Amino acid sequence: MIKEPLYLKPTTISEALEFADANKNQFRFLAGGTDVMVNKFQGNDLQNCYIDIIGIKELKEIKKTDSHLQIGSLVRLNELRNNEDIKNNFPVLIQAADVVASPVIRKTATIGGNLLVENRCIFYNQSEWWREAVGYCLKCDGDICIATGGKKNCFSKFVSDTAVALISMNATISVSEKEKKYEILLEDIYSGDGVTPLKFNKNSLIISVNVPLNCAFKSSFKKLRQRESLEFTSLTSAVTIDRNGNIKIVLGGVDPKPVVVCGSKLSDKNELIKEAIKKSRLVDNDVYSRKYRKEMIEVYLKRSFKELEI
Ligand SMILES: Cc1cc2nc3c(=O)[nH]c(=O)nc-3n(C[C@H](O)[C@H](O)[C@H](O)COP(=O)(O)OP(=O)(O)OC[C@H]3O[C@@H](n4cnc5c(N)ncnc54)[C@H](O)[C@@H]3O)c2cc1C
Repeated sequence: MIKEPLYLKPTTISEALEFADANKNQFRFLAGGTDVMVNKFQGNDLQNCYIDIIGIKELKEIKKTDSHLQIGSLVRLNELRNNEDIKNNFPVLIQAADVVASPVIRKTATIGGNLLVENRCIFYNQSEWWREAVGYCLKCDGDICIATGGKKNCFSKFVSDTAVALISMNATISVSEKEKKYEILLEDIYSGDGVTPLKFNKNSLIISVNVPLNCAFKSSFKKLRQRESLEFTSLTSAVTIDRNGNIKIVLGGVDPKPVVVCGSKLSDKNELIKEAIKKSRLVDNDVYSRKYRKEMIEVYLKRSFKELEI
């Protein structure tokens, strides 16, 4: 017997957490739905219960504390550019949000959903019959990684563009579960395993993403993609230097998790580039070749260092 999908629509955080607790691990939170629904209709996500959080007003606010700007997880990507604090302190976040998908999708997609967007691979993001024809891969219950010709690890790509920008500014997220609340560094929620890319508990709700103020970040952001109008990333890079001369390099699209390299303005820049390339476990699972994307890491980082005069 086919089970009817269950659709729940809480209007408060506590109601959402009650629903989550009652359906533990057997549901998806639905924000803009621009990733969840695509995966569902492609047959990559078999979840049958949805907790639609988009009506929770508390998650749509942007608040300022002495030390941080707290961006509610349901703030839409196209709304970030309207906030003066973001414009003045974190223009790199607007740059990153502006290259996610297309204008129509950015009107629906939220910042919280973007941080948890599912990893991608050209052998996985296909229709059910396509995946069946090639014999399924590790990420959809197959035995091997097709992109690597048979490895037992999955290298699906981490593709969130805003996470790359936010991690370069040491952002944290505030999280609520039924019995606890906590704050965690954004980069620490990603596992590095392409099959299960998040260490993040599925029953947890992201309340806000918090970006430190008073750091005087200067940033450079770049994205490689086949079409400028609408395309997931083949390589996203953000390089940030703060008021104390700390440099943070973050790469997306080249590994199952964000690649992070830290240094200072005194560091040997060629060594930082080498480290970033070494940490990127690139495989041929993208429209561009592994070799080309590897070369582009060096090109992008050199351009960013030049732009930032470091
Ligand atoms: C054609 C197309 C092109 C795209 N291009 C890009 C691109 O270039 N770059 C890019 O980064 N993305 C891209 N996306 C993916 C997607 O649109 C974005 O990542 C979007 O920001 C996801 O946000 P959402 O609110 O729609 O998330 P949803 O689809 O609603 O949710 C995504 C995930 O986050 C979880 N979630 C959402 N909010 C919360 C919360 N507050 N707490 C806990 N869990 C939560 C959901 O359960 C789900 O697992 C594209 C999508 C499409 C269809």
